[in-house]
Amino acid sequence: MPLTRIIEGVNQFHDSYFANHRELFEELSQGQSPDVLFITCSDSRIDPCLITQSPPGRLFVMRNVGNIIPTYGAASITEAAAIEYAVQALGVKEIIVCGHSHCGAMRGLLQVGSLSETMPMVYSWLRTHGEATRRLVIDNYPNETADRLLKIAIEQNILTQIENLETYPVVRSRLHAGTLNLHAWMYEIETGSVSVFDAAQRKFALLEQHSFPVPDPLIVTS
Ligand SMILES: [Zn+2]
Repeated sequence: MPLTRIIEGVNQFHDSYFANHRELFEELSQGQSPDVLFITCSDSRIDPCLITQSPPGRLFVMRNVGNIIPTYGAASITEAAAIEYAVQALGVKEIIVCGHSHCGAMRGLLQVGSLSETMPMVYSWLRTHGEATRRLVIDNYPNETADRLLKIAIEQNILTQIENLETYPVVRSRLHAGTLNLHAWMYEIETGSVSVFDAAQRKFALLEQHSFPVPDPLIVTS
């Protein structure tokens, strides 16, 4: 039974990882000071802490269907509250928007009309907040294969969300002050690799191929 495995995992966590990192958890109980706001899809195949090898306390994570950030002032305030809290209260210096290959939300976005009856809430979410991406893809890439179109939609959606982030006053202010950086990431499930948007080249490139520290051109907006 799947739940049995989940409970076994909790016990295993407590007996091994927690037991071996007691000091870290005691320190974390005093407060959090994450480095990064990590925004990604709810998809079960992505684990932000796993793919970045981050211990508890390093990533402030916001997830939803399609790693979508409604523009400032839009009706959905959940994402706005998370962004405001991470930037204003926690003072994160980096925001990563991470999309992923085979994203069901982006596949749904490309055929959004068919969702209106079967999944009205998903339809409403994608229709409201994904239309800019959908329109861009449909209008500009009429002759692409379905697989290629999905990849383009996933990448363009990430870039659209970066632009949406910039509509938040607290983000805009920190960008102007140079105390906040935005990063567009794309995670590929089948290879485990991460690509980042290189603003100078106007395309996503493998993160592994970049030297560290990550150079400025990887920052979409500064
Ligand atoms: Zn997804």
